[in-house]
Amino acid sequence: MKIIEPSYEILTEISEGGIKELQHIEKIGRVCYKSEDKITEDGESAKNFVKMLIGRGHEAMIEHSSLSVKFTVDRGVSHELVRHRIASFAQESTRYCNYSKDKFDNGITFIKPFFWEEGTKEYSNWEQAMSLAESGYLSAIGMGATPQEARSILPNSTKTEITITANYREWRAFFKLRTAKAAHPQMQEVTRPLLNELKIRLPIIFDDIEVEE
Ligand SMILES: Cc1cc2nc3c(=O)[nH]c(=O)nc-3n(C[C@H](O)[C@H](O)[C@H](O)COP(=O)(O)OP(=O)(O)OC[C@H]3O[C@@H](n4cnc5c(N)ncnc54)[C@H](O)[C@@H]3O)c2cc1C
Repeated sequence: MKIIEPSYEILTEISEGGIKELQHIEKIGRVCYKSEDKITEDGESAKNFVKMLIGRGHEAMIEHSSLSVKFTVDRGVSHELVRHRIASFAQESTRYCNYSKDKFDNGITFIKPFFWEEGTKEYSNWEQAMSLAESGYLSAIGMGATPQEARSILPNSTKTEITITANYREWRAFFKLRTAKAAHPQMQEVTRPLLNELKIRLPIIFDDIEVEE
């Protein structure tokens, strides 16, 4: 049994300062206003133009660009991620992955619940439950069950990898919901640092989304 921290990885390449991405949206959006003559090479016109689009709620223009992010989270969080209908997904399959095999180190990987500190009785209780789930899964496989049958024993804390591709408009809607205080704490654990990183690497697009303290 392995216990790991949740994480994310931005799979889409982002240009220095996000300028190319903003210029792409500018080139498309200026068709509406026939203002292509206002494009400047240094990216300043793109920054101002995209800021204006978002400020006015003309967000259809930012649907022309997308981002892919791979999350390593537990299956409770992934179940919430897949509710975002405009996005596209690729998720590690508990039907096809046989965790008793060597490539999975012959066991289950679990995501550490940050709200139970190691050494506390709550954490020990969780750890014992995970250990029991792992031995139940491995016993079922040993008795001849297929992975898609044995997975019935796996709990929400089971690690999963899920790649999400969505356009910027959908990511904005996603972050508004999933970084908010009302979102599940383990969701916030990955979405808040991701949003903060994107605000730095891809300015303008996410600047106005405030994370509640
Ligand atoms: C705090 C919180 C608690 C939640 N609790 C529960 C719960 O108890 N039970 C539960 O079942 N779910 C729950 N959810 C999930 C929630 O109901 C949504 O399924 C999820 O947040 C995805 O939101 P969305 O539909 O806005 O996003 P997306 O599916 O990503 O859609 C993005 C936007 O596209 C538009 N859109 C998409 N599809 C349609 C459509 N068919 N018609 C019109 N417009 C559309 C809407 O503007 C939508 O906001 C919860 C979510 C949050 C954030």
